[in-house]
Amino acid sequence: MPHPPNSLEALAARVAELEAERAMTLRLAQTDSLTGLVNRGAFTSGLCERLEAARDTGAAVALFVIDLDRFKGLNDSLGHHAGDLLLAELGQRLRDDADPGELIARLGGDEFAVISGDPDVAARAERLVAALAQPAQIYGRQVAPGGSVGVAVFPRDAHDAADLQRFADMALYRAKARGGRAWSAFDAELRAESEHRRTLEAELRRAIPAGEIVPWFQPIVEAMTGRVVGVEVLARWNHPEKGLLSPAAFVPMAEELSLIRSIDEAVFEAACAQTAPWVAQGLIELVACNVSPRDLLDPGFSRKLIGRLAATELPATALCVEITETFLVSDLGLARRHIERLAAKGVRVALDDFGTGYSNLRALMALPIQTVKLDRSLIDGIGRDPRVSKLIASMLHAARSLGVRITAEGVEDEGQALFLRSAGCDRMQGYFFARPMPGEAMEALLRDVNGPPLELAAAS
Ligand code: C2E
Ligand code: CA
Ligand code: CA
Repeated sequence: MPHPPNSLEALAARVAELEAERAMTLRLAQTDSLTGLVNRGAFTSGLCERLEAARDTGAAVALFVIDLDRFKGLNDSLGHHAGDLLLAELGQRLRDDADPGELIARLGGDEFAVISGDPDVAARAERLVAALAQPAQIYGRQVAPGGSVGVAVFPRDAHDAADLQRFADMALYRAKARGGRAWSAFDAELRAESEHRRTLEAELRRAIPAGEIVPWFQPIVEAMTGRVVGVEVLARWNHPEKGLLSPAAFVPMAEELSLIRSIDEAVFEAACAQTAPWVAQGLIELVACNVSPRDLLDPGFSRKLIGRLAATELPATALCVEITETFLVSDLGLARRHIERLAAKGVRVALDDFGTGYSNLRALMALPIQTVKLDRSLIDGIGRDPRVSKLIASMLHAARSLGVRITAEGVEDEGQALFLRSAGCDRMQGYFFARPMPGEAMEALLRDVNGPPLELAAAS
């Protein structure tokens, strides 16, 4: 009940109450409820305020970004509640270990950040890594967390908050790539990488509408007959100065920048236009296109693909969409909807890079997937590691009994091809048969190996 404003004291009390309420609301809005640390919003404004102050005083500000190692695995195996308990405990550790004046935040998920004025960046980073590496008790079980740390320093490395965060993230990424439970600082090597990425980004944004990203093709061969039954479409960047670039040079970056969808669309359209006549003339029956896991996260993906396909001359039954396991694992329900929608139109779906992840063949049977592509890393072990040959043979056996077709990728020599054929592999692809090539070369090869005699081809 509000006090009636009948006296000065009552009025003062009411004002104090409102002030306290306001302060509490503000504090709640700035706090991460799980750990009691500052949340991302408050962290961002805190960082900007500190950089503004440091601009005047000339002091250095270090930004440490922290990411837990293997947190997802723990969350999946022990459950979300256990994951929350661990996050709360680690948040408490970071707070207990903080120096006066530091700002400790949870940025979301398993990411934390520390803003510090400590001039000894190395010692502070090592203390953070050590604090996170202490074992924790969750449900009476000992779990070994561990985190990686990246750090960048204002004004030495960056002059504003956005760059400081980007650079600290790059350092974190390097620490993780080195195996985690380690720290890394932004340095000349990362600066060169950052500049390279900026240039590449600008070039990539220009290259897509300029038509510089083009489809190349690699033959897919039927194991029993050696006949070319189809092609896989592989993107190449015809860079005006650097020459021909492979996907490794631009696909990961395009995925990060959300440009991958425009690339996949451009490659898809060009590939359909180029391959439709090959299918119509009976030169091949299958056109396999790669799609990024990012595309698949769009709930409208399959509908849009069907729409775009209808605008081309390529029959739906000739198209096979190659998707990766990573996506199936991340959202099985959505994967199923896409695959079923595509299957209803006659479009096939293949599971790419099989053998690199966790899923087993039987789990896949819940989905209407007819083809599995055995990853190159497995094929590579044939003849070298008897366990790999045995594993492949038993996978092929299981696939047969489940009615799944197997395509082996990265077949590089005759020994591998002979082994795969005798073990019952359906289709093969690899340098042993042919490397990826531009459309004109692919067409010439198809006419050579699959086409009717030249006079006939000219007459029809
Ligand atoms: P992927 O789908 O697994 O494609 C097979 C890769 O193995 C291709 O690399 C191919 O050139 C290479 N390869 C084929 N046979 C052999 C062999 O015998 N030995 C060796 N060592 N390699 C072989 P590429 O063309 O560099 O493509 C790399 C990856 O980039 C592809 O892996 C695919 O995941 C991705 N990619 C390619 N084109 C596209 C695209 O248009 N969109 C998307 N989203 N991803 C693409
Ligand atoms: Ca592929
Ligand atoms: Ca593959």
